[in-house]
Amino acid sequence: MIVMKFGGSSIGTAEKIERCINIIADQKSKNPAVIVSAHGKTTNGLISMAESALEGNNETNSFIDFHNQLIADLKLDKQLLTTLYLELNEIIHGVKLVKELTYRTMDYICSFGERASSAIIAAALSARGYPAVQVNSYDIGLLTDNHHGSAHPLSDIDEGIAKNILSLTGIPVITGFLGRSNEGKITTLGRSGSDFSASIIGAALNVEEIQIWTDVDGVMTADPSVCSEAANLPVMSFQEASELAFYGAEVLHPATLMPAVQKKIPIKVLNSAKPQEKGTLILTTSQLSDRIAKSIVYKENLSLINIVAPQFRSTAQLLNTALTKLIELHKDIHIAATSESSISFVLDKPYTDEQLEQIVQECSALGTVSIKKNKCLVCVVGEELKGNPNVLGLIFNKLKEMQIKATMVSQSASEINVAFLIENDEIKRTVSALHSLLTELSTRKGSVHS
Ligand code: ASP
Ligand code: MG
Repeated sequence: MIVMKFGGSSIGTAEKIERCINIIADQKSKNPAVIVSAHGKTTNGLISMAESALEGNNETNSFIDFHNQLIADLKLDKQLLTTLYLELNEIIHGVKLVKELTYRTMDYICSFGERASSAIIAAALSARGYPAVQVNSYDIGLLTDNHHGSAHPLSDIDEGIAKNILSLTGIPVITGFLGRSNEGKITTLGRSGSDFSASIIGAALNVEEIQIWTDVDGVMTADPSVCSEAANLPVMSFQEASELAFYGAEVLHPATLMPAVQKKIPIKVLNSAKPQEKGTLILTTSQLSDRIAKSIVYKENLSLINIVAPQFRSTAQLLNTALTKLIELHKDIHIAATSESSISFVLDKPYTDEQLEQIVQECSALGTVSIKKNKCLVCVVGEELKGNPNVLGLIFNKLKEMQIKATMVSQSASEINVAFLIENDEIKRTVSALHSLLTELSTRKGSVHS
């Protein structure tokens, strides 16, 4: 068996849905369990609809018209979603009347997106000769805690899910994103949670492979918008994928893949617009290529904060006090460096001037604070880096040659990445230079790996 998950953008129009149906049909012999997101940007639409009901408007037409258009384009039964529309009208009207929108109600309203898409895809598959059945994940044992908005699956649900799915006839088309709390209410697994659903259900069924169908070419060696040479990465390890996600690449969220990783199930990221391409295979085992590293990622518009505080006797104490302040402000950091009487850290994401000003104010109780904006954190990721000082030498020589100043250099204990800070306006030059280094060396097989 395999799991095939289709993201919202892959099923955003009738034409794209037809393409996905062909993709499913091609792999019918592998016994797919299909998991779907809501069509296109439906979830965003439902959230706005709910918020606007709170303000006194009950407008559900955008949802109904959009889905009716898909139904018409796909030549499906016009009544397919009639009862779902009635239910949506009722709840939206209810929110308008009671003027209350809890997380629980928001989850219920969001559920209409995946309930509609799974019904449409199942009907379209059946109509084209591939008998399929619509399945609500919350009816087949995908049980969660009751953290509405970002619920987590309970342990011991695998057997129940597997038993229920295996008892079905036809291709199951299952709602992504949704679960059920022990109070019997619909929960959601967090935005983009359908990947999580694919991983939970794939693990429960112990499938051979989980396919994540998106609208991008799998994982890339660099951001193609700054590096025209960027190419698709055929294979990488889960640990590398996690590092890339952490440093800003739009890879699958690592935490959501844990159920699959625990069962050592390979995950493939594929482009539904180019199904013949290989995509990226993510494996739980370590993957060494003949390149010097797999990929370069970056996060721009970051700020570097320096605090000089000679009155602190211990660096640990200074760090502790500064980080506690940041936690209180709900801010996070990427990398930190210390010296005898000062600390520097790079904030985790871009913040507004107001937010930065607040950080400076809070930290100025500790010492002299300065802030440097428009910084970019670049990270080279690859298991090839591990235990290979030659590679670090090559990277920094290249930067020196290009006269690019790199600061805050850091390598985590896993040794599969090296990160450093540059100016925003050096991004293109840096990424292109390092990317060509990676490619150059890949043609000289074995020259850097001792
Ligand atoms: N439809 C949900 C969202 O937009 C879940 C998903 O697409 O994975 O967040
Ligand atoms: Mg997604």
